[in-house]
Amino acid sequence: MSDCIFCKIISGEIPSRKIFEDEWTYAFMDVAQDVDGHILVVPKAHRKNILDCDEETLAQLMRTVKKISNHLTEKCGYNGVNLLNASDESAGQSVPHFHIHIIPRKTGDGIDA
Ligand code: ADP
Repeated sequence: MSDCIFCKIISGEIPSRKIFEDEWTYAFMDVAQDVDGHILVVPKAHRKNILDCDEETLAQLMRTVKKISNHLTEKCGYNGVNLLNASDESAGQSVPHFHIHIIPRKTGDGIDA
């Protein structure tokens, strides 16, 4: 989608701090960094949210979410993750390209995710 900010990030037109990429998915640091290590995972194919996402794209997206989550807990010293998603403006979605937020967690970190 030509006017989609996350499509522009995937194509490299807008810079991002990429942490993972494969044929179907792209993961990068959330610009807000309201919490340390806040990551976004998106499908390369433009889908607005889970409501218009086909099962194959969803499966690839969740495969990448799991891969990154396991990496965070096995290699980066985190104990767990919060996975967050807003699907539709009514639910608080501000960028209309499907994305899963990964918030890495440590025991007693005090984050209210
Ligand atoms: P919300 O804005 O309420 O968190 P979303 O779930 O739609 O709603 O999240 C969009 C996320 O995209 C936000 O966390 C925001 O910080 C992030 N974001 C917006 N623009 C960029 C960008 N250029 N690079 C990285 N992250 C971005």
